[in-house]
Amino acid sequence: MMVIVMEPQAPMEQVSDVLRRLEDSGVVPHMSRESGRVSIGVTAVLPAPEQEVLRAMHGVAEISGVRQPFKLASREFRPDDSIVNVGGVEIGGERFVLIAGPCAVEGEQQVFDAARAAAASGARILRGGAFKPRSSPYAFQGMGLPGLRLLKAAGESVGLPIVTEVLHPEMVGPIAEYSDMLQIGARNMQNFALLEAAGRSDRPVLLKRGMMASIEELLMSAEYVLAAGNSQVVLCERGIRTFESYTRNTLDIAAVAALKQLTHLPVIVDPSHATGRRELIRPMSLVAVAAGADGLIIEAHPCPDDALCDGKQSLTPEMLAEVGNALPPVCAALGRTF
Ligand code: PEP
Ligand code: MN
Repeated sequence: MMVIVMEPQAPMEQVSDVLRRLEDSGVVPHMSRESGRVSIGVTAVLPAPEQEVLRAMHGVAEISGVRQPFKLASREFRPDDSIVNVGGVEIGGERFVLIAGPCAVEGEQQVFDAARAAAASGARILRGGAFKPRSSPYAFQGMGLPGLRLLKAAGESVGLPIVTEVLHPEMVGPIAEYSDMLQIGARNMQNFALLEAAGRSDRPVLLKRGMMASIEELLMSAEYVLAAGNSQVVLCERGIRTFESYTRNTLDIAAVAALKQLTHLPVIVDPSHATGRRELIRPMSLVAVAAGADGLIIEAHPCPDDALCDGKQSLTPEMLAEVGNALPPVCAALGRTF
């Protein structure tokens, strides 16, 4: 992978000449514009003589390789923010995105009530697990495809696209038939067969950070999806394991700011799994906005105390509405809309 950086003042004709030259040599150019300066990424190492020709073209400032190991995900390759489209909802643009819904789909009434509460709080995507990765084989494993159909119907009832988790590569196709976005969970962040299968899908992917994964490992996992041909990837910081046991995990808020510098991919925060405590969701949501996150994914349940999983960290409809009300002024302070 290489990047051709144009002079700050290079006119559009010079940019077009470079793009045409690249296309004629059979590579697909990816153009970005950062503070008025155009850079063009190509997913090929051009032969030295071709590099010399390009370097001598009018308006070309420099040609370099991408130094970061996560090539396609890096800001070096693409300086501009990427925007990921989830059933018409854009993640990564100026408008901050709230995703909300139950940890797991448990039944028709529950998921339709949860969808109404999500929509009423300002959420623009509905979440819900139909296939759950549980630590215990005896715990509720999710309703499977019937649950996914309920989630889709509940989303449609309030006009929200949906995101749900996929656990197995062979389930990417069947789940993509119903779901607007595929979630790859923390426990599967390095399931490379699953990452590649999601990379061959045309559905956007929500990739959660593994609970013991470094920032670079998260980006390398995103790279698997991108390299397989799917450019629609959103990263999610959901807390990592530390010695602290008061909270379920430790929200690595610095990772959010670091990721925003290292990659053009949108980054969202899951304060539910990061803390495991519903009383900490609102403050951590506001911190996420301030750190530069592009959105939040929050667990909420019509009656959290009866939830079949993750009840302690799930918000009531009222608490979710409070988060929805607290976000706009903080977003505005950061130059974003909600
Ligand atoms: C979930 O979103 O319900 C979930 C299982 O999250 P994670 O993979 O981050 O633990
Ligand atoms: Mn959960």
